[in-house]
Amino acid sequence: MKNTKGSLIRPVPLPDSASRPVVTPLSPSVVYASDTPDALDDQYEGRVHGYTYSREGHPNADVVAARLDAMEGGQGGVVTGSGMAAVSAVLLGLLKTGDHVIGGNQLYGRSLRMMKEDLPRLGVATSMVDPGDIVAMRAAIRPETRIILVEVVSNPTLAIADIDGLAALCKEKGILLAVDNTFTTPRGFKPFDHGADIVIHSITKLLAGHSDVMLGYVVARDLELTDRMRIFCVTTGMTPSPFDCWLAERGMLSFDLRFDRAQSTAADLADHLAGLPGVKRVIYPMRDDHPDRDRAEALLNGQGCNMVSFELDGGRAMANAFTRGAEGLSFAPTLGDVGTTLSHPASSSHRAMTPEERAAVGLSEGFFRVSVGLESPEDLKAVFTRAIEDAVAAS
Ligand SMILES: *Cc1c(COP(=O)(O)O)cnc(C)c1O
Repeated sequence: MKNTKGSLIRPVPLPDSASRPVVTPLSPSVVYASDTPDALDDQYEGRVHGYTYSREGHPNADVVAARLDAMEGGQGGVVTGSGMAAVSAVLLGLLKTGDHVIGGNQLYGRSLRMMKEDLPRLGVATSMVDPGDIVAMRAAIRPETRIILVEVVSNPTLAIADIDGLAALCKEKGILLAVDNTFTTPRGFKPFDHGADIVIHSITKLLAGHSDVMLGYVVARDLELTDRMRIFCVTTGMTPSPFDCWLAERGMLSFDLRFDRAQSTAADLADHLAGLPGVKRVIYPMRDDHPDRDRAEALLNGQGCNMVSFELDGGRAMANAFTRGAEGLSFAPTLGDVGTTLSHPASSSHRAMTPEERAAVGLSEGFFRVSVGLESPEDLKAVFTRAIEDAVAAS
């Protein structure tokens, strides 16, 4: 195609090609041009599909959504600018003043904050309950309870929610069950197969997997609910950037392999840590000493995921010596990266709690959460062995 319009700025014609790219093209265009007002009518009235303005939707977001829909068994899911935007789409996009929502008592920190600060400010009542305790959950339900929001594996103590019990309870009471599946991923757990109504992801973590994009995803079993959340996201501007979606898709191509590798290394590392002097306890869902082992087995399909938590038997000085000695591992508060990362809840995610409150949920100064990456298992075990030896010597 030749530009016959001389000095006019747009449109710049694309070169013709009879063949197609194998990689999804990046489409940063904010706006899309139509031929005629009639053609726009056709688009707005749904007779043909087309894009108009990228806050409303764009090809790179739709490609990521389609991949996640296929993984979760959903339809028409919404990709959002972050995982928290997806959580917001559920809590702010579906609830109204006077409603009540129950959250798991160990939700992701920002989700907890939204439950404790933002929803009450808007007149939505909230309760936080142990998602492994169905009796307590049933007791917390009120006539105006609309949603129960839980994570399958809690952060950072890796307790397993009773998803099947919650799904039965929600069905009985006409409440929506929303599952944040970020830790478990669709490879470890399929919320829709267990009766969930809404699935949430932070794509930022394992799905994109390289710590270079921030994105979220949400889908409901009921198409009308998904549509309400999509409209809320468009109106509030929680739209993802095309480049982030493009990067996320690139990361997702290797997700299955990364997940399998990271989880098998995590299982190996958990057993290794349990045998080291200076380690007081190890938490990993597939270990026989995990308190929710049977539930983990039933829900997670034998997949323990890539998170391992453990507790050193000393205080802050020992924790400092350990991170200093853990050469090559990032001490950074995220998870799901290609590289192994360490997080220390007492100084980061759980620092707002008093030491007594932390102790009540088992989080001492010696507690670490490890997001296992793709390093060689032998190298990784050697780094942990050395760093924990250093920490024991320093304490
Ligand atoms: C990180 C995370 C979120 C929030 O996702 P962002 O992409 O960081 O906004 C929500 N839930 C869980 C379980 C997370 O780990």
